[in-house]
Amino acid sequence: MAALMPKLASFRRIVVKVGSSLLVDAQAGRVKEAWLSSLAADIAKLHGEKRDVLVVSSGAIALGRNVLKLPMGALKLEESQAAAAVGQIVLARIWTETLAAKGLTAGQVLLTLGDTEERRRYLNARSTIAKLLELRAVPVINENDTVATSEIRYGDNDRLAARVATMLSADLLVLLSDVDGLYDTPPHENPKAKLIPVVQRVTAEIEAMAGMAGSGLSRGGMRTKIEAAKIATAAGTHMVIASGRTLHPLRAIADGGPSTWFLTPANPVTARKKWIGGSLEPKGAIHIDAGAVAALRRGKSLLPAGVVRVEGAFARGDALVIRGPDGGEVGRGLVAYDRDDAERLIGQNSERIEAILGYRGRSEMVHRDDLVLGGE
Ligand code: GLU
Repeated sequence: MAALMPKLASFRRIVVKVGSSLLVDAQAGRVKEAWLSSLAADIAKLHGEKRDVLVVSSGAIALGRNVLKLPMGALKLEESQAAAAVGQIVLARIWTETLAAKGLTAGQVLLTLGDTEERRRYLNARSTIAKLLELRAVPVINENDTVATSEIRYGDNDRLAARVATMLSADLLVLLSDVDGLYDTPPHENPKAKLIPVVQRVTAEIEAMAGMAGSGLSRGGMRTKIEAAKIATAAGTHMVIASGRTLHPLRAIADGGPSTWFLTPANPVTARKKWIGGSLEPKGAIHIDAGAVAALRRGKSLLPAGVVRVEGAFARGDALVIRGPDGGEVGRGLVAYDRDDAERLIGQNSERIEAILGYRGRSEMVHRDDLVLGGE
């Protein structure tokens, strides 16, 4: 089994999800600073080795409820939201300071379910986070609890982290929690329970181990972790659950500490290309000139200058078929403009976009990350 376990060093873009119980001492209502600082040191090491690191951090509600002196136990939705409003500023300050102490810049991103599911907001969130990474900042992401109503809430950061990982084509998602990983039977009921080091595929048997069937009760929060594993591995992202109770929790994973790896047969780039090329219903077409076809084949983005004609009623973020001068399909991609704006940009130099549309849009009609060519 050990041979199957990937090495932390082999990943280039890593999302690290930190649970509230690791970050916040519920009794004292304070952040566990020594622990957080050791995690920040691990993040800085990975970042220094040219990897992209993103953090999904819980803890806003846990911090805020304490400041507001809300009672222990379950909170009503609006109480959680008020607690998050107070706690999120505290959380953001702590991350800024802790990462800055290791020479890193933090950037706060607050997302709702719609931002990761709905096509056009997905594109916006994705390109903002990609820009932060390009600028070598560490995005620190949480759910925008104060504005999310019950129906547009994730409610748990395990699945939010999985969506973020797949949205950014991360190749690894690390869930740090207060358990070592997935056990074959509940460890608190059975002292002989065995930790499962590697899960090749999330089967019904694995779900049963996580307590997903039957009672509907999660065991140690394992249910949302298995949901996260399904989202991640379907999109080409490996996932690992490990205990964050030790100092330097990422180093502990690299050193082969207790954990459960969920492996994916795919890789995030091919999974994303498959999604764009196969799963999305095209809403129209873009006809491009021979120069643009050649540029795309050289790995470039599609610029407005190479567009000859657009077809169909499409909105920003929709999938379109890209056609060459002979009408043949060259590829498919997610378009950066609504139909009306796309039409006004036909044949134009990207420098003129602001003058034409009255706002500074993207230079590309279809960015190369959102593009899949025939034969890919
Ligand atoms: N977004 C919530 C918070 O920051 C946490 C949700 C979770 O822990 O999964 O408090």
